[in-house]
Amino acid sequence: RRRIVCTNRPSSSLASRAPLGSSNALISSTTGWENRGEDASENTPPILVAVKDNIVTSDLLTTCASALLQNYQSPYEAFVATKLCEKGWNIMGKANMDEFGMGSHSTNSFFGAVRNGEYSAGGSSGGSAMSLVDGQCSFAIGTDTGGSVRLPAAYSGVVGFKPSYGLLSRTGVIPYANSLDTVGVLAHSVEAAHTAFRAMNSTVDDNDPSTLSQESRNRAGQVRKTASDDLKKRAQHGVKNETRPILQGVRIGVPTEYNIIELQHEVRVAWRRSLSMLQDVGCTLVPVSLPNTKHALSAYYILAPAEASSNLAKYDGVRYGSREQPSDGVGDVLYSKTRDGFGDEVKRRILLGSYTLSSKAIDNYFIKAQKVRRLVQRDFNHVFSMANPLQNPKHFDLADMDESVQLDSKLGPAQVDFIICPTAPTLPPKLDQVLDQTPVDNYMNDVFTVPASLAGLPAISIPFKISSSSERYEPRVSAGSTSSIGIQIIGQYYDDEGVLGISRLFE
Ligand code: GLN
Repeated sequence: RRRIVCTNRPSSSLASRAPLGSSNALISSTTGWENRGEDASENTPPILVAVKDNIVTSDLLTTCASALLQNYQSPYEAFVATKLCEKGWNIMGKANMDEFGMGSHSTNSFFGAVRNGEYSAGGSSGGSAMSLVDGQCSFAIGTDTGGSVRLPAAYSGVVGFKPSYGLLSRTGVIPYANSLDTVGVLAHSVEAAHTAFRAMNSTVDDNDPSTLSQESRNRAGQVRKTASDDLKKRAQHGVKNETRPILQGVRIGVPTEYNIIELQHEVRVAWRRSLSMLQDVGCTLVPVSLPNTKHALSAYYILAPAEASSNLAKYDGVRYGSREQPSDGVGDVLYSKTRDGFGDEVKRRILLGSYTLSSKAIDNYFIKAQKVRRLVQRDFNHVFSMANPLQNPKHFDLADMDESVQLDSKLGPAQVDFIICPTAPTLPPKLDQVLDQTPVDNYMNDVFTVPASLAGLPAISIPFKISSSSERYEPRVSAGSTSSIGIQIIGQYYDDEGVLGISRLFE
């Protein structure tokens, strides 16, 4: 059906990795595109989609940007890829990324770093974001485990949507951390992201046990309907606004814990302006407290490597990868030759994960992090007016909460529809700065994206531009601009349509 025309060549040194000026966004690409869509006519161009290289496709290799999978051809196609092809869209190429999705700047790739000019494209779906920015596709598919769709979207000036966990099938998505992995969409507009999301969410996949069944979707849909009926009632009581009356009564949560000292000035300004824009169209702003946010990043960096260390056990030269001699490490050897092909960050995560799962450390690390994850989920349930459809309402009574949580919740039970905060604390850093950073500095970029991941909530990053000369609100940014600032909208579980709906305001 399609033919490979280009395959990126790996090289070891950063200097020779990518030709100057190139974003190095694609690892492989196809040709022979056709306009096969439902609305196709002779005059409409074919719709092209870039797919992150950890999602398997039947015509192109799937490498996860890893030396170990550099020649891997999947025998089948991912569920989401099939859905895109059924729409008549063309998978035009496989996008570069951080190896196995581990990273925040798309620099940990066997095929060389993705470049957003001199700046970080964000990661790990940086290749998906830059293939859009380069105009190579209409939208791009990525995966988001702890922010990997939203962070590149924020840094590259495009829209990045991570749906609720369990909506889009993970069949054919090479796992990084199964309990967090989510397929997401990057596009130039919310509308395009919405169209792609709907295409991939059009049917339920029975082969992925972590995908919500139709029955659960129906139940969750009922909960959502109750919440939106309530919102409509509130809207009728609001002051009439000629332009956008539907937004009367919408309550926007502003999480006080996200106003951290490290927040770059421009980011704080963008956040403030996005809030006043919402106020101007009739929304009510409500300060909310998510007290466990401060522990979310640490919990994420225990849970994700733990799951990764288990997932990556299959790269043993028998099931995946190639067997080297001598096959096993002896004595002080940490990595046998067979497993030496992983990049440094992947090796670091395997070590971290193996340690936190070891019998001596598991109680103090892995189990504690699981508890923090629950508290993060509970914080969100506490502030959203819509009930979490996955939870028994009896289970999130404030009275049952730990005393520390109750004491921290000084702001009381705020009942909001959406939460708005920045996607990242800073503007995109320069690539050479990133390469000098410690791994922990790198992890800090995810501080605002991991809470929604731990709770499995739908979240979107919308590009926002602030001009230093005026206080005027300017919602559109030129893609790839280093002054783009991602504003994140988070909704209750299964309120994906609500999140996408309110995001349209920013267009
Ligand atoms: N930066 C985070 C990590 O390295 C998130 C990655 C992702 O969402 N795939 O784990």
